[in-house]
Amino acid sequence: MRCTRWRRVPLNLVREPRESFAAECVDRAVQCQLSAHGDGEHYGLLYDLGEYGTALWLRWREGTDVGLIVLPDCPVVAPGLDGEGCCLFADHPEQHTWEDTLEEVSCPS
Ligand SMILES: [Zn+2]
Ligand SMILES: [Zn+2]
Repeated sequence: MRCTRWRRVPLNLVREPRESFAAECVDRAVQCQLSAHGDGEHYGLLYDLGEYGTALWLRWREGTDVGLIVLPDCPVVAPGLDGEGCCLFADHPEQHTWEDTLEEVSCPS
C-alpha cells in the first residue's frame, strides 16, 4: 500500500522548479510516493527532470518544514523481459513501486 500522507507545497518551493527548470506545471500538493511506512521522511514527486534521469522531490517529516532535493531515478527494474521501472529515487527506503502488488501503480508524469 502506498503511503497516504499529502503535503501542500509552499509557494516559494513551487517557484523553484519553474525558475530553475522551466517547469510549466508544478503540483500544489504532493502525495508521498513510498510504500506505507511508519515514522521517518516522506517523499513526494514534485517535478520529473526526465531527460536527466533525475527528479525533484519534496522531502518532509511530520511537523517539520519541507525541503527540495534532486535525486537520481531508481535504476532497479522488475525482473523479467519487459520489467517495469521503479517510480522512486535511487536508494529509497521501502519497496520498489513495482513490488507493490496491492494496487495498480502508474508513474505520475
Ligand atoms: Zn510517506
Ligand atoms: Zn526502486
